Amino acid sequence: LFRSEAESSPCCPPVVAIGVWVLPDQLHAGQAALASLAAGDGPVLLLESEASLRERPHRQKLVLFWSAQRHFAAELSLAGHRVELIEAPSAAEAVPAWVRRHNLDELRLMEPADRSARRAVEALDLPCRLVWLADNHFLWSRDDFAQWAGDRRQLRMEFFYREGRRRFEVLLHDGEPLGGRWNFDSENRRPPAKGLQPPPARRFSADAITTAVIEKVERLASATPLPGLSRPFGWAVTRAQALEPLDQFLDDRLDGFGPWQDVMVTGQPDLWHARLSPYLNLGLLRPDEVLRRLEQTATQRQVPLASLEGCIRQILGWREFTHGLYHHFGPGYTGLNALEAQQPLPGFLWTLGGSGMACVDTVLGELAGSGYNHHIQRLMVLSNLALIAGWNPQATTAWFRAHYVDAHDWVMQTNVLGMGLWADGGRLASKPYAASGAYIKKMSTYCAGCRYDPKQRTGPRACPYTSLYWGFLDRHAELFRNHPRMALMVRQLERLSEADRSGVREACAALEWGPAPDARGPAEPSA
Ligand code: SF4
Repeated sequence: LFRSEAESSPCCPPVVAIGVWVLPDQLHAGQAALASLAAGDGPVLLLESEASLRERPHRQKLVLFWSAQRHFAAELSLAGHRVELIEAPSAAEAVPAWVRRHNLDELRLMEPADRSARRAVEALDLPCRLVWLADNHFLWSRDDFAQWAGDRRQLRMEFFYREGRRRFEVLLHDGEPLGGRWNFDSENRRPPAKGLQPPPARRFSADAITTAVIEKVERLASATPLPGLSRPFGWAVTRAQALEPLDQFLDDRLDGFGPWQDVMVTGQPDLWHARLSPYLNLGLLRPDEVLRRLEQTATQRQVPLASLEGCIRQILGWREFTHGLYHHFGPGYTGLNALEAQQPLPGFLWTLGGSGMACVDTVLGELAGSGYNHHIQRLMVLSNLALIAGWNPQATTAWFRAHYVDAHDWVMQTNVLGMGLWADGGRLASKPYAASGAYIKKMSTYCAGCRYDPKQRTGPRACPYTSLYWGFLDRHAELFRNHPRMALMVRQLERLSEADRSGVREACAALEWGPAPDARGPAEPSA
């Protein structure tokens, strides 16, 4: 910003006017672009762009993103940065003008985790040089992941996770896994028991900044219909707040997390889940600090190893793996549809209820109020239904991306398209996660309040999951007949009489849920 002085001096290199643009999911002071510039040495931009409305995001998601960004701008300002938070219809209408106003030679950004964000930035007509700095919000860099993936025939999370444990020295004793095993998953699959009483999850009251954002979102939602409710809003919107649920999880919830991580209980949406993913994915918490705090807790008190390992697996394993795969597979992954699933999404996904299935309506009802479900609700209730009913994977992935407060493109491509829907033909998951009503009955309390019977695949009380599960096997029997982890299920199908199989086909065909009230649905992600 002292260009003229520098240019007039023959002995000094010309001083370059540099600005930093912090993207909405990069809200940590140590992010690479911010860290490259001393506070006050250049202007810092944060953008509240209404272009994100094209995705039709859940209101809680929009409030969380925008409120966290406004709070972060205020914190940067206190730390001495020259910050501007601009509210604008789109980046194109704000950023080039901001660059010109500051007469910048160089605009620095940290590499976004989502491809679409980088594409959108590069499409801007910027009157300065654009400099990308490597994303430092993941433990594995993209190059390190690519090196690990090399030309392995199969990329499996379990082997990646073990390598991560060694590489970052997590839960090791003399180089060996603590407790003698890498994986305690088998101890973490208990079905619901009577009288489960999880400690209540920490929620926050909306302050003046959040209240103003809620009012803005409600104003926008009156013109562009947005799903879900914006009130009550209880998510943390600052790093200081996000540390509280982390502390609470380590003190009160970690021990119960392992055994009860797969259960689903009516009226208990949180159970022992940490609910830290929205904060990790926005940058309010860092994955390395959460891992160290977990290990530290185990040195301070007795923590069940299965719970500790199960939680570390989510962060050091799944989170890093899905991010690494997203970039390793590249844009070609997005359009995959190995099972040729073409069914449109049903209307109840847009109204967030009204399916008539107790499990689905419970999960969607909780989603409507919070923008959140825990991982088994997402995988085994919603993704499972999408898989066995044959909903189009791209439309399903876009729906998930729009509706969850922790959803970003890098999270949802691999989790929904790959793990949930097997649209990548098994590049990520070793088998499709297809299950009948029997699984939901075993792992939840939902079926007790349902008009359907999970045991029945045909007839007036047939559970849609059970009909569709057998219908899924029937449709794809040829594909899975020799599959190592699916062949047994195909053999079970082939034991059914022809009359039974055609009864299943009829039951599946009779399921009519109605189309989305607004056929447009969410659009592609934008910056
Ligand atoms: Fe869901 Fe079927 Fe159980 Fe009803 S009976 S709650 S539809 S799994």
